[in-house]
Amino acid sequence: MSQTITAPYSHTPLILNNRRLIVVSNREPYHLVREANTLRLEKTTGGLVSALDPVLQSTQGLWICWDSSNNNCRFDELCRLAELNNIEIPYEIAPIKLTEVDVAGYYDGFSNRQIWPLFHYFTSRYAFDEGDWDSYYQVNRKFARAVIEKASPEDLIWIQDYHLMLVPQLVREASPDFNIGFFCHIPFPHYEVFRMLPTRKEVLHGILGSDLIGFHTPSYTRYFMECAEKLLPGQVSIVDSNTLVYKNRRIIIQDFPISVDFDHINGLASLPETEEAVQQLKQSFPHGEIIGLGVDRLDYTKGILERLECISMFFERYPEYRKRLVFIQIAVPSRIKVQEYQKMKQEIDEAVGRINGRYSEDGWTPIHYLYRSFPLEELVAYYRAADFALVNPLRDGMNLVAKEYCAAHPDYHGVLILSEMTGAAHQLKASFLVNPYDHPAVAEAIYRAINASSEEKSIRMEVLRQNIQENNITRWLKNYLLTFNDAIKLRRYAFQ
Ligand code: UDP
Repeated sequence: MSQTITAPYSHTPLILNNRRLIVVSNREPYHLVREANTLRLEKTTGGLVSALDPVLQSTQGLWICWDSSNNNCRFDELCRLAELNNIEIPYEIAPIKLTEVDVAGYYDGFSNRQIWPLFHYFTSRYAFDEGDWDSYYQVNRKFARAVIEKASPEDLIWIQDYHLMLVPQLVREASPDFNIGFFCHIPFPHYEVFRMLPTRKEVLHGILGSDLIGFHTPSYTRYFMECAEKLLPGQVSIVDSNTLVYKNRRIIIQDFPISVDFDHINGLASLPETEEAVQQLKQSFPHGEIIGLGVDRLDYTKGILERLECISMFFERYPEYRKRLVFIQIAVPSRIKVQEYQKMKQEIDEAVGRINGRYSEDGWTPIHYLYRSFPLEELVAYYRAADFALVNPLRDGMNLVAKEYCAAHPDYHGVLILSEMTGAAHQLKASFLVNPYDHPAVAEAIYRAINASSEEKSIRMEVLRQNIQENNITRWLKNYLLTFNDAIKLRRYAFQ
């Protein structure tokens, strides 16, 4: 059986034009894990690290990140321990130290209690707090200072996500010659929502320090352009739908939909050990003739409670599927210290208990709820075992689970039911698209999806897989870096 496990990153040094890539992000790419008396370097999971780590390894880049003190041990201490234990850290990592007060204001406060709900359209969960904003500004300054200290005008500085929206401008102020890119990994909201933020102009000004600003979809790009035009009148001039001029600099704003390592996941799904795990999984769910799957971080944006409601409605409306269909919900623990998230977990636990109490019979349990995180190899077996995936967040910047589910179906089996409110819906139009707020329609979509003809299912899956294979994570990276090069050239020469 053929498998391709590694992504072809060999072209990236060429795209970089011998420039050093400096990635700046809230999260660190690596952490050390203590196990009994040994130490092990572990890569942080997630699309960003998987995409950028090989590039930084092959080009000796630099990663600047928050020292989040994994295992109660500071990052510099861990680096020292790594050295003592002959564990090689593959490239330079510059950790930023934050105090508890910094973290409470910058991370828990402004990033996660303000920007996160607002940018995901949960306006009723949003409340401005000036102290959090001050902290956010101070921490962004700390990041900017670290960048300025380490970077030269030859480097490519790539700042990631909503935690660091002020860093581009703070770095730009140190030198007009810095090459600065920014990528937003969450939705950028419509003007009517963004304008609710009292510090909206400061945030726009911060991001506009970049030469290239990337979003997942054309609509996030359009909303950003609209916000800049309406909120900074006279300061911004729009050149075209992807270009504006601000402070005498030409800035490119474009969509680059992030993706997954298709070949890697496809390869994992084709392994004999995965096949064995799939068979075992199928046998472990009594009356699981049809298996449905949900995989999410436990976050209110993912709509897990609402999804359970839809499943309940499905069994109510289509009783012939009782004792034939099981739904597995994997919920990855997230922000567990936050009271709001603890409450949500309890509500989900209760909803699962209520639905199972209502429908279970003869050894059949409709919902199997797994509150934990799986490594990708195991997750791929769940993807492959599932006849359908119900991916219906209330709002999601992209949603990689939807893409991974399709990449894990080399047999073209499986049906994807996908929320219109995800960035992924923009690309994955061959899925069964649903409005996650319309619960009867979601219940009906499950019925339609499992009853579609085998031909329809496999054609839809083939189209989805082709799209994901072509627009894989390597393409995201390559397109961003190529456009970054263009943006730098335009900045330097457009107005001379
Ligand atoms: N994931 C994982 N183990 C799990 C569940 C999920 O490693 O048990 C990964 C999954 O493979 C995916 C990511 O978590 O790459 C979730 O990404 P997504 O864009 O769907 O949501 P996010 O959590 O970033 O909002």
